[in-house]
Amino acid sequence: VAAPAALDLGRPWRDGFAALGPAFFTDLRPTPLPSPHLVSLNGDLAAQLGLDPALLADPSGIAAFTGNAVPEGARPLASVYSGHQFGVWAGQLGDGRAILLGGIETPAHGVQELQLKGAGRTPYSRMGDGRAVLRSSIREYLCSEAMHGLGIPTTRALVVTGSPQPVRREEVETAAVVTRVAPSFVRFGHFEHFSSREQLGELARLADYVIDTFYPECRATDRFAGNAYAAFLEQVSERTAAMAAHWQAVGFCHGVMNTDNMSILGLTVDYGPFQFLDAFVPNHVCNHSDENGRYAYNRQPNVAYWNLFCLGQALLPLIGDQELALAALESYKAVFPRELETRMRAKLGLADAREGDRELLEATLQLLAADRVDYPIFWRRLSHFVAGGDAAPVRDLFLDRPGFDAWLATYEARLPADRAAAGVAMLRTNPKYVLRNHLCELAIRQAKLGDFSGVDDLLALVQSPFDEHPAHEAKAGFPPDWATHIEISCSS
Ligand code: AMP
Ligand code: MG
Ligand code: MG
Repeated sequence: VAAPAALDLGRPWRDGFAALGPAFFTDLRPTPLPSPHLVSLNGDLAAQLGLDPALLADPSGIAAFTGNAVPEGARPLASVYSGHQFGVWAGQLGDGRAILLGGIETPAHGVQELQLKGAGRTPYSRMGDGRAVLRSSIREYLCSEAMHGLGIPTTRALVVTGSPQPVRREEVETAAVVTRVAPSFVRFGHFEHFSSREQLGELARLADYVIDTFYPECRATDRFAGNAYAAFLEQVSERTAAMAAHWQAVGFCHGVMNTDNMSILGLTVDYGPFQFLDAFVPNHVCNHSDENGRYAYNRQPNVAYWNLFCLGQALLPLIGDQELALAALESYKAVFPRELETRMRAKLGLADAREGDRELLEATLQLLAADRVDYPIFWRRLSHFVAGGDAAPVRDLFLDRPGFDAWLATYEARLPADRAAAGVAMLRTNPKYVLRNHLCELAIRQAKLGDFSGVDDLLALVQSPFDEHPAHEAKAGFPPDWATHIEISCSS
């Protein structure tokens, strides 16, 4: 019997990462799953990639994006990397359950790589089963798109498929595959891998590929005496700083900021035990496996720098001069506070920078922390107040009313003359809909019963989080009491 014709996605494939050669990966096909079905398809992203949504939702598309058939022209592979996990060198890791199909040329977004996560064992699976469960695949899918909807650099997610195949975690769950999309999935850990093994030829090859493809300006710079590798480290530091500032401003906790989960493009990647803050608790730890709180919300900016330092160390043989490497890393310390201030000033509706802004911001966060005020709701209510509403809904969030009133007086005095315009801008900056843990949890419970409408509903909300969605008013409200008891661990 002839094998069925491979699916033609209708886009030309481009050899990017795969052209680096066999030292960087293992060629292998995904492992099929029985009876695959569609969980959710991201039609917006499909359109942006120039892919036909009807084709993806077709049995042949579902088979391809479950890993049961390899699309025509794709060259599936799993890449090798290493990394520091929870501050400790972990040695070789790699794509233990992710398989890269390759890059496709898109109509308006250049080459985008497609990666199937949960597509079976690879030579880098270690003790793992190569699978991802439905629960964590839905979380990754929704959060990728939530971050994108908030304007935060991130990998994207195209589709989730599921299978009745049992997968053992704390309890028996079922398998799913999420298709991730990004210009590249190269991590800090890829550089650490070749550097730690003193494979300097491969290290240079990897750096040259990333620079030439994604950071070509590093070749033409006068900075660092024309040292392209130092310029590259500086660029990555700046992108990482911008990403971290976004995270802090929106109240996003990543949960597992290991160096193998840090994108060389400054994209948020590897959504596991992430959480958007409900109450503003600066030292909140979202990952129940993180016993020491290494990746607490308020430690993320320092951890990002620590991770960049590891990258700098890995690049040192190429940069050739420790002083240059340290100078390149310095940019993080300048860019992170600047970016954070820009983001926070926008949240407050302050268009220009003035003296005293830092103190105002500090006072705002202290007030929020003291009363553990709900972070998204505070900013949204404040936006409505500035746009012409009443202060009472904001004031109601605080126990310390005198403290709030004093703060409000300072804040109102600082607001721009055109308050209405500031309010409108704030309503486009402070989201109404945030992918809170309990919203994910409810959609997952429903999905486990075979009803995926909750996933699709949430997808639509998080893709336009600043808009009103009157049918989903409750999803913009306070989390229920049980939300604080949701335990999200590394188990996924
Ligand atoms: P993470 O903590 O999710 O970033 O994963 C760390 C490493 O473990 C990565 O190299 C993953 O590919 C790998 N890994 C995680 N879960 C599994 C699994 N179920 N099967 C195989 N490898 C896994
Ligand atoms: Mg990872
Ligand atoms: Mg992971």
